[in-house]
Amino acid sequence: MKKYSVLFLILWAGILSFGQQTYLQCGSLLDVASGKLQNEKTLVISDNRIVAVENGFTQGSGQDQVIDLRALTVLPGLIDMHVHIEGQSSPDRYIKQFTANPADVAFEAAVYAERTLMAGFTTVRDLGGSGVNIALRKAIGRGLTPGPRIFTAGKAIATTGGHADPTNGRSYDLMGDPGPKEGVVNSPEDGRKAVRQRYKEGADVIKITATGGVLSVAKNGQNPQFTIEEIKAITQTAKDYGMLSAAHAHGDEGMQRAIKGGINTIEHGTMMSEETMELMKQYGVYMVPTISAGKEAARNAEIPGYFPEVVAKKAKEIGPLIQDTFSRAYKKGVPIAFGTDAGVFPHGENAGEFVYMVEAGMPVEAAIRAATVTNAKLLGMGDSLGQLKSGFLADIIAVEGNPLDDAGLLAKVAFVMKDGKVYKN
Ligand SMILES: [Zn+2]
Repeated sequence: MKKYSVLFLILWAGILSFGQQTYLQCGSLLDVASGKLQNEKTLVISDNRIVAVENGFTQGSGQDQVIDLRALTVLPGLIDMHVHIEGQSSPDRYIKQFTANPADVAFEAAVYAERTLMAGFTTVRDLGGSGVNIALRKAIGRGLTPGPRIFTAGKAIATTGGHADPTNGRSYDLMGDPGPKEGVVNSPEDGRKAVRQRYKEGADVIKITATGGVLSVAKNGQNPQFTIEEIKAITQTAKDYGMLSAAHAHGDEGMQRAIKGGINTIEHGTMMSEETMELMKQYGVYMVPTISAGKEAARNAEIPGYFPEVVAKKAKEIGPLIQDTFSRAYKKGVPIAFGTDAGVFPHGENAGEFVYMVEAGMPVEAAIRAATVTNAKLLGMGDSLGQLKSGFLADIIAVEGNPLDDAGLLAKVAFVMKDGKVYKN
């Protein structure tokens, strides 16, 4: 009998200490699935989850915490499907690979991660860096440093001389001959090895550079750079390990090979033809537009000396095309995810993409749905992220005013909660 009462006391103490809940009183709450605002709601948070959505303003019992967001519009934490959290565009970007140690990269990356979180992006997919991105994901997950949830590709996979070959533009004695371990492949075998290496290193997703790119020191920004056999080997191996595959692509031929080769998302999609748009729909492949990056690269290319000449030329040609392609793709019914390529422009300015998407003809509620419901589903988190529903993770942001009237308001986030913890109020 005595034994049972001790057990009962321990249980009761546990319930008392863990029982504290947080009540978020929301003036308006955006139901992102329907695109409709609901007035006067209270979100009840226990630990890191939403446990109830109540009508009106409720406040629980004495020990519960109440946060007053009655003057704000509350929505789910935003998700960006394309960032490079390790770095940020600057004129010394090309020199830095010779001067920065991984520890230098890590300290910078931690700052960018915090800026991203404070801007209301509570989850990001990092599409390529040096491997510091994996360490940062772990550190954030352990609560050592503030930042969004990260799903990362680790190092991107390219072909020799292709976009994301880490030794492009170097003198011959510094070029070496990187292989699949470093993410440079030249056969289906290499492709499988590169995917398995990324899995071993702790990557969550696979990124390939299906065509040339703007910022690499190489002449062509749009040629196909993988054979379809190489792409198939990569996507099928990624699937074996439960990883999605994303393909950077500006040129049309490389995009078609990526789609037919089993890629899940096309990043940028700059020169996508009508025929390729039909293929995207047929294969259920999502376009991640990154309009912000195209515009920023084109702007920076006008600053003398900002980019090497070979890069500036590509940035002026390719950068300005993305918004128009996105507009046509959206109107044609191509599946759209939300992604910015932050790092090409300053981290924390991710929400500028909403304004560009709206300018291109997408209603703001559809753009917000892409950045929440759609992106969560693509990350395999559709039943725990991207909506404010009971049972979902407590990733919650709030803005002043009504973002359905003005997409620009999403750039001024007043409140951020991630995993039930308040980071900005
Ligand atoms: Zn990118």
